[in-house]
Amino acid sequence: MPRQHFLFLGHQDLSGLVRGRSVPRERRKAALSAGLPWVPANYSIGPTNALPPDNPFGPLGEIRLFPDEQALVTLPAHDGRPAFDLVLCDGRMPDGSSWPYCPRTALKTALARLKDEAGLTMKVAFEHEFLVKGLDQVAHPAFSVSSGRNVSHLADQVMSTLAKAGIELEQFQAEYGQDQFEISSVPSDPLAAADRAILSMEVIRDCAKQLGLHATFLPKPDPTGVGSGVHIHFSLYRNGKAVTAAKDWVTDTAGAFTQGIIDHAETVLSFSCLTANSYLRFRPHSWVGSYVCLGVKNREAMIRLVPRKQAAGGSNPQASIEYRAADGTANLYLALAALIGAGLDGLKAMRQPVNVPTDPDGIPAAERKRMGLRHLPQSMADGMAAFRPQDAERWFTPGLVAAYMACRREDLRQFANADPHEAARILQKVY
Ligand code: GLU
Ligand code: MG
Repeated sequence: MPRQHFLFLGHQDLSGLVRGRSVPRERRKAALSAGLPWVPANYSIGPTNALPPDNPFGPLGEIRLFPDEQALVTLPAHDGRPAFDLVLCDGRMPDGSSWPYCPRTALKTALARLKDEAGLTMKVAFEHEFLVKGLDQVAHPAFSVSSGRNVSHLADQVMSTLAKAGIELEQFQAEYGQDQFEISSVPSDPLAAADRAILSMEVIRDCAKQLGLHATFLPKPDPTGVGSGVHIHFSLYRNGKAVTAAKDWVTDTAGAFTQGIIDHAETVLSFSCLTANSYLRFRPHSWVGSYVCLGVKNREAMIRLVPRKQAAGGSNPQASIEYRAADGTANLYLALAALIGAGLDGLKAMRQPVNVPTDPDGIPAAERKRMGLRHLPQSMADGMAAFRPQDAERWFTPGLVAAYMACRREDLRQFANADPHEAARILQKVY
């Protein structure tokens, strides 16, 4: 008697968690072609399963999860648990038309705007940092052979699971912090990049569990320890030609786009990291990039230009722009859509950024002020106060912004005044 093989239709919700429902093998074909009914309010359930009281959905309505078979991974059978397929979905109206609150749809809309309004396409790659608990390492010398070796059984399972789904990783390596590791993805179109990154995180969580380990992407599992970030690399193309950088500096197009992100940094930030825990990461000298600026090869700048090598004529065809202020709590579709929305605003204004080539914290305060160099908010309350809904509503539907901010108010209510260690203890079980 063959064992069951479930298919889980999931979506990344407004708190960055993948939720959905599964069907047995017999219902697989029907679910893949016609989707499954779903409850709108489920997009608003937070990390502690609390539904924000002011979420716009309440008990009403019905939508449908429509799967995209390009975004499907099989979690392998293990230790009595059958194989389990996870496929990512759009939330749509039952008739298949667009539902204004779906984050995946919001990214598709942002990409269409990028093409229509600016004639640009984008490639994206992610670097995810995370901790693996339970490895029982004698020590974790940063980036060492022993730390890399200690996690190699997990890395092997993760990479072979992803490879079967056509997902390749560039690296799986030991990072700086105790029990900290990092994956980097291969650059691809932004929707596929986000889908693959979300699936990669789920595969890492699942493979770790099967090995008796626990992987967490929480930005500050130890509020006083090393943080785990998500760095988003992007590059811009016009008619298939890279227009990110030339002569080791951003082009006018990429410069204006980047300046838009700098101008709207606090509002973008609300979409690229979203718990009170996230804001503990924004401290100088931790290579997070907590000053709002662009710096060539500068890891203390919120945005780092990575020019890579120059080609004939001075162009940098491999260059990427790295946004460093995201973390593993983010809804990646919304984070990318916010970067694009802010970038498009920047392309309208056509202002150019300056290069900040040193650690901004080493610049005297008066000089920083003269340069207009600001620090990212250091608490969620400050982050929420700096959020500008009128900007976000140019990038997203007003309904999505309202639903999203209701979730953030609930996070703030639960965690802003909580003991950060206790909050981290709870949240690292979830993220
Ligand atoms: N762990 C740092 C962060 O929180 C990044 C370190 C690095 O890879 O440069 O973003
Ligand atoms: Mg790193």
